[in-house]
Amino acid sequence: MIQKSTTTRSVLDPMKFAPWVTIPGQFALWCTVLAVAACGGDPATGPTPGSPVFDGASALAHVETQVGFGPRVPGTAGHSAQLSWMIDLLEDHAPEVVADTFTHVTTAGDSLELTNVMARFAPEQGRRIVILAHWDTRPTSDQAPDSADHSIPVPGANDGASGTAVLLTLAPLLGEVPPPLGVDLLFVDGEDFGPGVEDMLLGARHYAQTVSDGERPVYGLLLDMVGDAQPSFPVEQISAQFANPVVQKVWRAAERLGFRDYFPTAVGPPVTDDHVPLIENGIPTANLIDFTYGPNNSYWHTPQDTPDKLSAGTLGMVGQVVVELIYSGG
Ligand SMILES: [Zn+2]
Repeated sequence: MIQKSTTTRSVLDPMKFAPWVTIPGQFALWCTVLAVAACGGDPATGPTPGSPVFDGASALAHVETQVGFGPRVPGTAGHSAQLSWMIDLLEDHAPEVVADTFTHVTTAGDSLELTNVMARFAPEQGRRIVILAHWDTRPTSDQAPDSADHSIPVPGANDGASGTAVLLTLAPLLGEVPPPLGVDLLFVDGEDFGPGVEDMLLGARHYAQTVSDGERPVYGLLLDMVGDAQPSFPVEQISAQFANPVVQKVWRAAERLGFRDYFPTAVGPPVTDDHVPLIENGIPTANLIDFTYGPNNSYWHTPQDTPDKLSAGTLGMVGQVVVELIYSGG
C-alpha cells in the first residue's frame, strides 16, 4: 500500500447540476440519440471469451460484512474498521494499492478525515479506466417518513455497500486474469456526508482534482445502488448528456450478456452523484444507478436500506457487465 496524506480545505464547488432538475427539450434530444444508437445494439452474443466469471454471492457476502461494521460515517469506528478491511483485501490481489487521506472542512466547520482507496491493476498500462463506488454511508436517515428516525445513520446496504462490494469482488478476478487495459478500482469516501451537496461527493472531487496526468483514465464508470433485488438501470440523465460514449459501451455490454430487460436504454432522471466531479474535470463518467429502491424509492436514505433488500443475482449481473466491459477491451 502507498499512503498519501494531504490536508486541503475543500472549496465549495458550486454544482453545475442541481439534483432532480429535468430539462424537457434536451431530455427528448438525448432519448433520440440513445434510441438511434440502441437500434444498432448488439445481440445477446454472450461474454467475451476468456473473461472471468463474477460471483454475486461473494458480492452479497461483502455487503453483509460492510453493514456488520455498523455505519461507515467518517470519524466512526465502523468507518475505520471498513477502511482496514478493504485495504487488507485489496492488497491480496492488486499490484498497487494507494490510500489517499485528506481533510475536508465542512460548512459547519468540522474537520473530516477522509480516505480514498485505489487498487491499480496493470499499473504500467497507459490506457486506463476507473471504476468507482463510495464506501462511506450517510450519517442521517433524512428520507425516513418518521422524523424521529432522521438522526439514525443509514445501514447503507445498497447506498454504499453494494457498489463497494462489486468492486471488491472484481479485485481477485483482475488479479488472476490480466485485463487488456489498465483498471483502477477507486473507493471514494465522503460521498454521502451532507446534508447538503457542498459536503457530499468529497472523495470524488478530491480524486478528480488531484489525479496526475500519468494516471488519468480515459473514462470512468460509477456504481451506486446496484444491489436491489428488483433491478432496473435506465440511463442516468447526466451520464447521457456528458458521457454518452461510455453509456453506449456499458449498456451494449449488458445487452451482449442478455440483460437488456434490466438495462433499458430509456433515459431516467438526473442524479447528482460522484460522476459529476469527474465529468467536470474532463473524465467522462457514466453512473450505473438503480434509483427505484423500494416502493416510491422508500428505502433510500432510511433505516430500511438493509441487506435483505438486495440480491446476489442483481449484484452478479452488474458485476458481470463490468467484467464484460473490461475484458471486451474497455
Ligand atoms: Zn446516499
